[in-house]
Amino acid sequence: MEQQKLIPASNVTAETIAAAAKKYPTPFYLYDESLIRDRCKELRDMPNAFGLKVRYGMKANSSKALLKIIANEGLGIDAASLNEAKRAMMAGFGAEEILLTTQEVPIGEDRRDLEDMMRGGLNYNVCSLRQLELVADFAGKNKIPLSMRVHPGVGSGASSTRNTGDKYSCFGVHLSVVKEAMDMAKEKGLVLKRVHVHIGSGGDPKVWKDNIDRELSYLEQYFPGAETINFGGGFKERRMPEEERADIKALGQYAKERIEGFFKRTGRKLFMEIEPGTFVVAMAGFLVTRVLDKKNTGSDGFQFLVVDGGMETNTRPLLYGSRHPMFVVSTEGTLLSGEYGDGPAKKPFVVVGRCCESGDALTLDDEGKIVERNMAEPQFDDYLVLGGCGAYCSSMTPFNYNSHTQIPEVLQRANGDLVLIRKAQSLAQVTQNELSI
Ligand SMILES: *Cc1c(COP(=O)(O)O)cnc(C)c1O
Repeated sequence: MEQQKLIPASNVTAETIAAAAKKYPTPFYLYDESLIRDRCKELRDMPNAFGLKVRYGMKANSSKALLKIIANEGLGIDAASLNEAKRAMMAGFGAEEILLTTQEVPIGEDRRDLEDMMRGGLNYNVCSLRQLELVADFAGKNKIPLSMRVHPGVGSGASSTRNTGDKYSCFGVHLSVVKEAMDMAKEKGLVLKRVHVHIGSGGDPKVWKDNIDRELSYLEQYFPGAETINFGGGFKERRMPEEERADIKALGQYAKERIEGFFKRTGRKLFMEIEPGTFVVAMAGFLVTRVLDKKNTGSDGFQFLVVDGGMETNTRPLLYGSRHPMFVVSTEGTLLSGEYGDGPAKKPFVVVGRCCESGDALTLDDEGKIVERNMAEPQFDDYLVLGGCGAYCSSMTPFNYNSHTQIPEVLQRANGDLVLIRKAQSLAQVTQNELSI
């Protein structure tokens, strides 16, 4: 296989995996700095009419070193909680670089913190009538403009749990009450300068385009003072070779034409924002595990590979039936089989983790049933590597289940150096807040 690269766009090779695993014990996440920078550039270059801001959807991966790289690339932040906004600031983002879009409501201590951050320039995206009520007097008195997330009644996502725009989810102010919200805003003298819609993750580009048209029409109907239109994230990545990634150029071209058309019709020049999470980091991340054991379940059963990182390191297969490319790498750093090219003879295996949970498998379908994947048969101690693990793996897993500890994160710098960016959690850290009776 050419250069032993695991995936075509990445700089991570089978040799990188073996070298990293010599330095840091498995399991760990390994990130490719160059790939993150390439994706940031591709997004910044998205065609647009009157300016573009790319906000990184940091819930995809909130690791400080990665946030610093993304800040250095000039992206802003989409934060999903007040704590995420605080972490972005700890990583060096200014408050004014952050748009906070959350289900939380600002009460108690959170409210004081939110007000301080809004005075410092944080953009608050109102997602419900209650949020609007709670923030209205403060924003009105301090003349702080607000944003509003509209629930469009139509969504798209790679699975029902990732669709955020249909009637089964409650993100944003539903279109049916936007008028009521705007009446309240008017009464309080509020300025709504940004309209926002995020319809879901990994969905159909056609639905993403339709959303542009719908969002422009609500903006025209309800938001006379809006200057910015935010189309959310949800750009699909190509994790498996047969998948297609979102065409950022084509989507940008479409948005540009629609925003220009809107200007011709209304005389209003809208600034555009997007909020990719997955697209920035997904393909830059690898989960490096080691093969601990092999078992089988009889002549009508399966061949199982037990690895040292399962659902507590990557929950996406269990949660969504997601498929990640799998690579078998020998301890010497030879790629024994990959997903992006023909390897030697492959055999069907089921890959499971160490948790006492039948769903702790990395090869599941979208109904949670075990499925086989073809790969070279590894030796004990060989590495089983999963690609496409930069987004919603480290940031989303139930890592202390079975008293496992949160695994470390390693970064391959642009010059090839391997550096530790997050230490392994210790068992003492897992239990440190427990009190005796
Ligand atoms: C999750 C989320 C994003 C990022 O979604 P991706 O599918 O990772 O691109 C952007 N905006 C909002 C409001 C989100 O909730």
